[in-house]
Amino acid sequence: MEAIRFGQTGGPDVLELTSSDPPAPGPRELLVDVTAAGVNFIDTYHRSGLYPLGLPSGLGLEGAGIVIEAGEQAGFHVGARVAWADVMGSYASHVVIPDERAVPVPDEIDLDTAAAVMLQGMTAHYLCNSTVALDRDHTVLVYAAAGGVGRLLVQLAKRRGARILACTSSEAKAEEIRRLGAHEIVFYRDVDVPETVRELTDGHGVDVVYDSVGADTFEDSLRSLRPRGTMVSYGNASGPVPPTDLRTLAKHGSLFLTRPTLGHYTADHDELTWRARSLFDLLQSDQLDVLIHDRYPLAEAGRAHRDLQSGTTTGKLLLRP
Ligand code: NDP
Repeated sequence: MEAIRFGQTGGPDVLELTSSDPPAPGPRELLVDVTAAGVNFIDTYHRSGLYPLGLPSGLGLEGAGIVIEAGEQAGFHVGARVAWADVMGSYASHVVIPDERAVPVPDEIDLDTAAAVMLQGMTAHYLCNSTVALDRDHTVLVYAAAGGVGRLLVQLAKRRGARILACTSSEAKAEEIRRLGAHEIVFYRDVDVPETVRELTDGHGVDVVYDSVGADTFEDSLRSLRPRGTMVSYGNASGPVPPTDLRTLAKHGSLFLTRPTLGHYTADHDELTWRARSLFDLLQSDQLDVLIHDRYPLAEAGRAHRDLQSGTTTGKLLLRP
C-alpha cells in the first residue's frame, strides 16, 4: 500500500509518499481500498503543528472506498461501499477503519462524491441543524461561503429557510454562491462588515455568524450580531482567534459564543449515521450541489495543501490513491 506520512511538522514539503504492506483488520475493523480521500483544512493544521499529533504520523481523516477484508464480527462484508470522516491516515491507498465509524454509501452515489461530503457536509449539517436549529426567522452571516464547508452550509441553511448573507473575497466566488441561493454577498475584505450587515438588516445585525476565518474576522463577527445573537467560531483559516475577554460578549449585546467541532456532533454512531444519511438522501434526490474543485494523485498531497491554503479554491479537493 501507499500512504502519505510525515515525521516533522512544517510546510507541505514535509509530506512524503511511503510504501508498506497493508495492515490486517482486527475485530470489528475493516480494511478498505480507498477510492478517494478528502483534503480538509484540519489536515493543514495537523501538518503545521497547530493541532499537534504524535510523530511520525499518517495524515487525512476522510474518505470513501470498498471493503476488501472484514475483521471478526465486523458489521460490513467484503465488497461493501463505505465512507468515513474521522480515521487518521486516510491519505492512503488502504486504511483500516473501525466498523462503527463507517457509513454505507448507497449504490447511486459515486465514491468521490461520498468522500466529498462526509467531513464538510456533516459539519455544515450540524452547524445549521444542531449548533443552531435554523428556521425562517434567522438571518445568518456565512464566511468563506464558496469554500468546502461554506457552499454546503449555504445550501443547507437555505433549505431550513434562513436568510443568508454570504462573505467571500472575489466576484468569481460570489457568482457561485449566488447560484446556490445566498441572498446577499458581502465582500468582507473590501467593506466594513458590521456596517454592511447593519445596512442589510435594517440596523438590527444578524442572528447567527458562522465564522471559519478566525483571527482576521472574529472581532467584526461579534460586531455584526444583534443583541443576544450567536457567534459560531468553527475554524481558523487565517489563524486561531486570540484569547478574548468574556466581557466583550456583554459589550456587544449579551452574545452567545460557541467553538464547536465535528467530533462532538458525530461521537454517537446513530448521530453520525443520521447526518451522513441526511446528506446522501439529498444527493440521491439531486437536492445538494457538490463541486469537486480538483482531484490529485496521492503523491501530490502537498500541492493540494498549497492550493487549499492559497484561498483560491471553490468546493472540495480530493486525493485519488
Ligand atoms: P475552505 O474551502 O473554506 O477554504 C478556506 C477559505 O477560507 C478560503 O477559500 C478563503 O475563502 C477563506 N480564507 C480567509 N482567510 C484565509 C487565509 N488566510 N488563508 C486561506 N484561506 C482563507 O476550507 P474548508 O471548507 O476545508 O474549511 C473551512 C474552515 O472550516 C477551516 O478553518 C476548517 O478548519 C474549518 N472546519 C471546522 C470544522 C469544525 O467542526 N469545527 C470541520 C470542518 C472544517 P474566501 O476567499 O471566501 O475568503
